[in-house]
Amino acid sequence: MNKFGFAISQGRQLNFDEMKSDKADRLLEVEPSYKWCIGCGGCTASCSAAGFTDFNIRRIHTAFIRGQYDGLEEKLRRCMLCGKCLLVCPRGVNTRSLIINMRRLLHD
Ligand code: SF4
Ligand code: SF4
Repeated sequence: MNKFGFAISQGRQLNFDEMKSDKADRLLEVEPSYKWCIGCGGCTASCSAAGFTDFNIRRIHTAFIRGQYDGLEEKLRRCMLCGKCLLVCPRGVNTRSLIINMRRLLHD
């Protein structure tokens, strides 16, 4: 039991040598606009699905690009492809295409 009013979190360092990048490279090839993403979270804030579930599109595309694919397929199914995230992205990332291509690449 922690009595100090704070908790010690697990380390979240990334080991770039261990990161899988094959699918990430292919995603950037088919949807190069993702290179402009600044991780602002605007897509998540506007997402139709996020209001009803714990669906978080920013976390999903960040995990995908890092090669952390566990559970992503199931999470991506919650996206309705409504395109709201695409309208608000300040960097012009084609998030809808990003999602469609992440779904496709997870099967490859
Ligand atoms: S709104 Fe655009 S720039 Fe911001 S995290 Fe989403 S995809 Fe990236
Ligand atoms: S396209 Fe998907 S991720 Fe984007 S706002 Fe709609 S439900 Fe959310």
